[in-house]
Amino acid sequence: MSTMETDVIVVGSGMAGAAAALKLAKAGKSVTIIEARDRCGGRGFMKPYAGDDGRTVLEYGGAWITPWHDRIRALVEELGLSLRPRHPVTTRQWLRGGEIHTDSSAAREDVTAHERAIARVAVDAILLKKGMAANEKGEALRGISFADYLDRLDCPKSTRDIFSAWWTVSGNGDHQTVAASEFLGSCSYDNGLAEGMIRFWTDTVVPGMGALADRMIEASGAKRILSSPVTRITTTADTVAITCGDTTYRAKACVLALGVNQMKSLEFTPQLSQAKRDAIALGHGGRSFKLWIKAEGVPVGTLVTGEGSGIEFAFAERKAEDGSTLIVAFGLMNAANRPGDAQWVREQASRLFPNARVLSHDWHDWLDDPFARGTWVAALAGHEDGLETENWQPEDRIAFASSDYAREQAGWFEGAVIAGEDAADAVLNLK
Ligand SMILES: Cc1cc2nc3c(=O)[nH]c(=O)nc-3n(C[C@H](O)[C@H](O)[C@H](O)COP(=O)(O)OP(=O)(O)OC[C@H]3O[C@@H](n4cnc5c(N)ncnc54)[C@H](O)[C@@H]3O)c2cc1C
Repeated sequence: MSTMETDVIVVGSGMAGAAAALKLAKAGKSVTIIEARDRCGGRGFMKPYAGDDGRTVLEYGGAWITPWHDRIRALVEELGLSLRPRHPVTTRQWLRGGEIHTDSSAAREDVTAHERAIARVAVDAILLKKGMAANEKGEALRGISFADYLDRLDCPKSTRDIFSAWWTVSGNGDHQTVAASEFLGSCSYDNGLAEGMIRFWTDTVVPGMGALADRMIEASGAKRILSSPVTRITTTADTVAITCGDTTYRAKACVLALGVNQMKSLEFTPQLSQAKRDAIALGHGGRSFKLWIKAEGVPVGTLVTGEGSGIEFAFAERKAEDGSTLIVAFGLMNAANRPGDAQWVREQASRLFPNARVLSHDWHDWLDDPFARGTWVAALAGHEDGLETENWQPEDRIAFASSDYAREQAGWFEGAVIAGEDAADAVLNLK
């Protein structure tokens, strides 16, 4: 057992932990970061693409930021990194009835019902954004699963499939259990249109979010202790003891910069509030897979959505150095999908891009990752409150910080920074 002299221990070096460390250091506190992995950045994870001799570094976790993500933009500038604008969508295609359609998202006989469903979603999304829990017909907007919401829409299969594709990049969980509000919330960015989600993914950080987290921590001067999963946190009247294996570190306060799924294996003495324990036990349901696929014969800027299974969303994002195209693709992790299997990925990609020659793919399995246990936050229907910031107020000498329960921009890197800075403020206000 060893002890250490530091004002604040930050557990977790994702964007929330990095932001907390930076703000605490700027306020004159000494900070130590304890991180389970051998790298910083958490669900921001850049690494060389396996099928390209490592020449291209890609984001396997989060990547895109929006025009209103001011904190990330300011950090990028302050710390000497840059932004790459996303290639615009230049061709929109839909897989329908096993064939690629380039003219319209709906079959002629379905157009009226299709447009009615799109209008309904748009109204519901705007009402939800205004804070309404139900629409003008009294139909629930919160507490309802995506599957039940789709049933209520009563739309053609092709319309359901399009919504399902946008779901893989918004609600990103089991249709039966994750809240429809995750989808409606993302639609609300563009006046309620699902198709508008991508319009606001305007930039990515170069070389990657991991580099930004590294620079933030470097700038904070925090000491890093890597490859050290925390197992226990014990709070007394004036200290917090953080245990990793047989080592215990002590500080006056702790920022616990972990998401809800990451806290499942931690022991707390005294126990956390019942509401926090309930939220941790339930966790969040984010479980999309994100793949990078290298292919020839796919024009950059092509966006294709699928037929409600397998790879459902694929965007040809940029050219690799050898002139082939790098496609970013999403679907849901479930028993039918095999995103780690090259043959399966080739078959799926060939359905969406029939003229393509698929060369290789690479990904990271976030569900199987013991220090993530999921992707970006997705509230379970009926349990949305557990992820509200009000539920994640400090307890004793511990302040909590994660994008999962940020007061604004939850689920985004921006939300992680907001949560990290809020937690730093809470620690600075401790007596
Ligand atoms: C596939 C994917 C795509 C995404 N796309 C986007 C996007 O385009 N734009 C966007 O803004 N966001 C996106 N996100 C979400 C974004 O990545 C997250 O919201 C954000 O990274 C969360 O930051 P965080 O600091 O709250 O948590 P994390 O990044 O998860 O940080 C928590 C840290 O704690 C560490 N840790 C876990 N357990 C322990 C332990 N016991 N002891 C010590 N350390 C521990 C973890 O290793 C990790 O480093 C995406 C996420 C994924 C997975």
